[in-house]
Amino acid sequence: MSISIIGRSIEESATLMLNETAAILKAKGEPIIHLGGGEPKSRAPIDAIISFTGLLNSGEIRYTPVDGTVEMKQAIIRYTEEYYERKVAPENVIASSGAKQSIMVALQAILDPQDEVIFPAPYWVSYTEMVKLCGAIPVPVHPEDGTFYPRMQDIEMNFTSYTKAIILNSPNNPTGAIYSDEFIAGVVSFCEKNDLYLIMDDIYHRLCFDGKKPANCYKYAKNLDENSKIILVNSVSKQYAMTGFRIGWAVANKKLIEVMSNIQGHQTSGPPVLMQKAAIGAITGVQSGVESLRLTLENNRNVMMDQLNAFDGVKPTKPDGTFYVFADFSTYDKDSTRLSKFLLDKVRVLTMPGIEFGLDGYLRLSTCGSIKDIIEGIERIKWALDPNSPNELYIGERKLVRDWL
Ligand code: PMP
Repeated sequence: MSISIIGRSIEESATLMLNETAAILKAKGEPIIHLGGGEPKSRAPIDAIISFTGLLNSGEIRYTPVDGTVEMKQAIIRYTEEYYERKVAPENVIASSGAKQSIMVALQAILDPQDEVIFPAPYWVSYTEMVKLCGAIPVPVHPEDGTFYPRMQDIEMNFTSYTKAIILNSPNNPTGAIYSDEFIAGVVSFCEKNDLYLIMDDIYHRLCFDGKKPANCYKYAKNLDENSKIILVNSVSKQYAMTGFRIGWAVANKKLIEVMSNIQGHQTSGPPVLMQKAAIGAITGVQSGVESLRLTLENNRNVMMDQLNAFDGVKPTKPDGTFYVFADFSTYDKDSTRLSKFLLDKVRVLTMPGIEFGLDGYLRLSTCGSIKDIIEGIERIKWALDPNSPNELYIGERKLVRDWL
């Protein structure tokens, strides 16, 4: 069978594979604890549901403009004004089927084969594959000082005449790191100086802890006219717990939005109108749900950190935001894929291998579940890995006997 070079280069997502395996086991009645997830457990906002059902009941569910309905664009414009203090025009905005599609069409609009795209590691799994889908080359940058906080010299050292764009994600998936204002300011001016696109993936920007706030990229831009190469991406997925609604958006210069719309128009057309309605409801409705989600996640983060700090051999880094803790488990196994499979197999706890995010020896642990899940999940992991644990562990009625170590 003949498969394209690009098709062959795209890796199967181990993250999705592990999720599937866990789902199958759960359906068979296995006592799975899900510390792998990338979605909050809260309900979608009531304003989203009301807008959605209102339109659904009309029975008139049609195509929309490729780049989103007028009302959707107005909601995005309002959002950008409120959270970024920047007034943009409808032509500066595109709504897509998730931030994922906004980023994908942006990359397709700006990249030629062999172009390079720089992004700090650890990184969200899809950046590498999306860049490869464009025939371009992903350039993950590991901060030289070994932290999760890149510095300008890390970026500069990887800059070549092929560099076309930089992607920043702060707060970051998987580390939860919020990059400093100084770093964001440095990247914005570096991109302006070298005529590079800057994709700001801000989808966790309202889920921050300890009073911290991520930088507003526009604040540091000298050029905010129609030649600006900043592409700001956001989504309803995480902040409103609306992952399944699949609505995200990008704000950029008019020419680029036009090209992105042309591309999207041949892929999926406009995002589903019901989902746009729901997203409009969420963005323009009561916002208290975002704050209560943020508070829950901050509390869950604290519980997870307490559990991990009491776990000999594990080195977690305290996240500034998001719902992930990225922890160093290399004392137990340097191969994170093997470790993750082992934990699912032996104690039915789902974790995500760090190698998927560009750093082996680490596991990404999600704090989206209940406190009970977090505590029991880490207890089970500890039992599986600590050679001093008792030989037996009870999960409900089920007795696990350690036949390893
Ligand atoms: N960017 C990052 C950093 C993410 O973690 C995700 C989802 N996991 C996305 C983009 C995609 O979000 P959406 O659901 O809006 O497509």
